[in-house]
Amino acid sequence: MRSIDDLDVHGKRVLVRVDFNVPLTEDADGRPVLADDTRITAALVTIEELRARGARLVLVSHLGRPEGRFDPKLSMAPVAQRLRELTGAEVALAPGVVGAEVRALTEELREGEILVLENVRFEAGETSNDPELAHALAELADIYVNDAFGVAHRAHASTEGVAHLLPSAAGRLLEGEVRTLSGILESPAHPLVAIVGGAKVADKIAVIDRFMELAEVVIIGGAMCFPFLCAQGHAVGESLCCEEDTEHARRVLAQAANPHHASIELPVDLVIGDRLSEDAEHRVLDGVEVPQGWMGLDIGPATAQRYGREIARAGTVFWNGPMGAFELEPFAAGTRAVAEAVAQAKGLTVVGGGDSAAALARFGLEDTVDHLSTGGGATLELVEGRTLPGVQALEGAGVAGGV
Ligand code: ADP
Ligand code: MG
Repeated sequence: MRSIDDLDVHGKRVLVRVDFNVPLTEDADGRPVLADDTRITAALVTIEELRARGARLVLVSHLGRPEGRFDPKLSMAPVAQRLRELTGAEVALAPGVVGAEVRALTEELREGEILVLENVRFEAGETSNDPELAHALAELADIYVNDAFGVAHRAHASTEGVAHLLPSAAGRLLEGEVRTLSGILESPAHPLVAIVGGAKVADKIAVIDRFMELAEVVIIGGAMCFPFLCAQGHAVGESLCCEEDTEHARRVLAQAANPHHASIELPVDLVIGDRLSEDAEHRVLDGVEVPQGWMGLDIGPATAQRYGREIARAGTVFWNGPMGAFELEPFAAGTRAVAEAVAQAKGLTVVGGGDSAAALARFGLEDTVDHLSTGGGATLELVEGRTLPGVQALEGAGVAGGV
C-alpha cells in the first residue's frame, strides 16, 4: 500500500477522503452544530502534513445518511467552520460536491489552502460507486489520498472508484490502522490474546474463527458468552441467546479441542439482573446456571480476575466488545476490570469497536491503549481476513504510475 511518503504533493491539488462523519446536534435556533469533533482533530495529522508540504487540499467526506439528496441539515458547513478554527488556514466550503463551479474553486486554491466539498452522499452515485461521479471527483485533483478507514470496507465512488483514476496513496490514519491491525494478525508478539464481547454475536463469529487460528487464547464475554454456555448445556435464563448463534458456538467449541487452535475462556461466574435497567434487581451468580426470569448482564468478579491474568501475560491483546451492559452501573464492573487490565498490560494493546471505545472513555482509559481502532465494521472485516475495497484500490500502481 502506498503512503503519502511516496507522493510529491508540492503545488498539487490533493483530494483527501477524510472521515468527517461527526455527530451533530442543534443549537437554540435549530441549526446543526457539532456534538463532538474527535474525527476532525484526528484527521489533522494528514491534513497538516500535506499543507506543510505545499499541497492544495480538497477534502471530501460523507456526513450522516442523506440518501443521495441535498439536505441542509447534513451540510458540511459546521465541519468547515471547525476546521477553520483548528487549522487557522483558509478553508472554503464548496457549493456542491462536483461540477464546473467546484472545479474552478479547486484551480484557485493556493498552497496550504483547503476546499471542503459538500457531503458526498448528496450524490446518489456515491454509494453505487458510479464511474461518472468517480470521474467528476478525479477532475477536482491531481492526486488522491484516502484517510477514511471507517469506510474502507465500502466500495464507493469517493473511497474506491476515484482511487483508480488518480495517483493515490493512504493517509496517515488509514496507514496506521492497516499497519497495526495487519501486524497483530501477521506477526503478533505471543501469546496473542483476543477478547471478544458485546452483543452483535452474528457479526463477530468470523472474528472469533480467525482468532481461533491465530491466537493462543480467545476470551469470551458480553452477551457473546451465552450461546457458548448454552452449547455446553448450561441454563441461560432470559439472557440474549438464539439457536443460530448457539450452533456457531458449538462449532467453535469443537475447534477449541484441536491443539493447533486457541483455547476458549468462558465465564465461571456472572452478574445477573431481572431486567436490563439501572434499577434492576441484580446479584452475583456463583457459577453460570442462570435461573429462569433472570438474565446474565455482566461477567462475575472471579471471571474478571481470570481474564485479567490472561491479559497480563499476553504479548498482544486485541479487544472488541464490552464484557457486559457497562452503560448501566450495576453491570459495569466486568468491563471496567478488563479495561483496567488492558490499560496495564505490558503487551501491545489494540481495541476496536464503537462501544468498546465508549467503555474505555467512560472509565477514563482511552489514552492507555496502544491503538484505538476507529473502524467499526472495517476493523472487523480486516481482522476477519477480508479484503477492504478502499485499501485494495490503493495497492494498484495508480493511473499515472510513480508520482
Ligand atoms: P462494539 O461496538 O464494541 O463492537 P457491540 O456493539 O457488539 O460492541 O456490543 C455493545 C453492547 O453490548 C453494549 O451496548 C452492551 O450494553 C451490550 N451488552 C454487553 N453484554 C451484554 C449482555 N450480557 N446482555 C445484553 N447486552 C449486553
Ligand atoms: Mg457497537
